[in-house]
Amino acid sequence: MPLKYQIVEKQAYSLVKAIKDFRIYILYSHVIAYVQNDVVKDILTQDGIEGRRGKWIANILEYDIEIKPTKLIKGQGLAKLMTETNFQALDINELDNEQELATPQINQAFLLSPWYADISFILLNLHAPPGLSKTKNRFLKMKASKFCVLDSALFWKNHEGILLNCLTMNETDSVMKEFHAEDCGGHLYWKFTADKILRAGFYWPSLFADVKKFVVSCHKCQIFEGKRKLLPLPLRPIAIEKQFQQWGLDFIGEIHPSSSGQHRWILTATDYFTKWIEVIPCRQANDSTIIQFLEANIMSRFGCPKKIITDNAMLMPQKSSHQHWGITTRSRP
Ligand SMILES: [Zn+2]
Repeated sequence: MPLKYQIVEKQAYSLVKAIKDFRIYILYSHVIAYVQNDVVKDILTQDGIEGRRGKWIANILEYDIEIKPTKLIKGQGLAKLMTETNFQALDINELDNEQELATPQINQAFLLSPWYADISFILLNLHAPPGLSKTKNRFLKMKASKFCVLDSALFWKNHEGILLNCLTMNETDSVMKEFHAEDCGGHLYWKFTADKILRAGFYWPSLFADVKKFVVSCHKCQIFEGKRKLLPLPLRPIAIEKQFQQWGLDFIGEIHPSSSGQHRWILTATDYFTKWIEVIPCRQANDSTIIQFLEANIMSRFGCPKKIITDNAMLMPQKSSHQHWGITTRSRP
């Protein structure tokens, strides 16, 4: 059904709609919106307007938007914009100035790199290096269309149009090491490691082959190779008949720095049936602490447990004490 809007209202509404659709991209940025007509700007900036126009103004209030009328016609603006993005930072303000495009500067490292030398040449001179066959010439130009220069650095556009930082040969090793074996790593499979590098915004032409080679030769990965393929142990169900019959005991710590009361450990007991938790802070993780805790916090309040399960058998009270109470103990593997 056609909207009963005037032409300028349609233009204003399309701008409001576009702003809403691109909300996550522009919310925290200063945005300049170019409109064809001065009246569109008036519609979206006037005070004290009610009705649908008032609603549009309310919709765009949260954005840092500057609306500017322009005389550029759509096709011309778009063509200029595409040219600009390929060679320098996107600055729409410059579209109004009829200035010559500045020659981009490319970092020397890219000009000398065998990976990027030809591409840099094309981006600088807008033609392929002389002496190449027609096919090679065309191939290089197509390849170069995926690259652009920003602040003297070379970027590669992925299929989503996101710019990835191009790395030179001597930078790739440290990046692969960081994303496979160091803080950002985790000794992942080579495909996952390569994906991580791409997601972090880095690119070089032989990325996948290099990462595969690097991961295959990783010493730690070779040592643990095959161990991941072990079948998991069968699960053993724990049958509990009633509450406060079986408790899990755990020490948390050692905590640095210790509390003002010199407590460095936290002793916890969890009932397997109700999941009720008892916790105390303690200065030392030893037998006497556990015995005191069991007597004061568990037995005197919930009765004598049948079984106590811990992570660490070393921390269990001496056999004599729990045998005296008739408690069975078991440590988890
Ligand atoms: Zn590894």
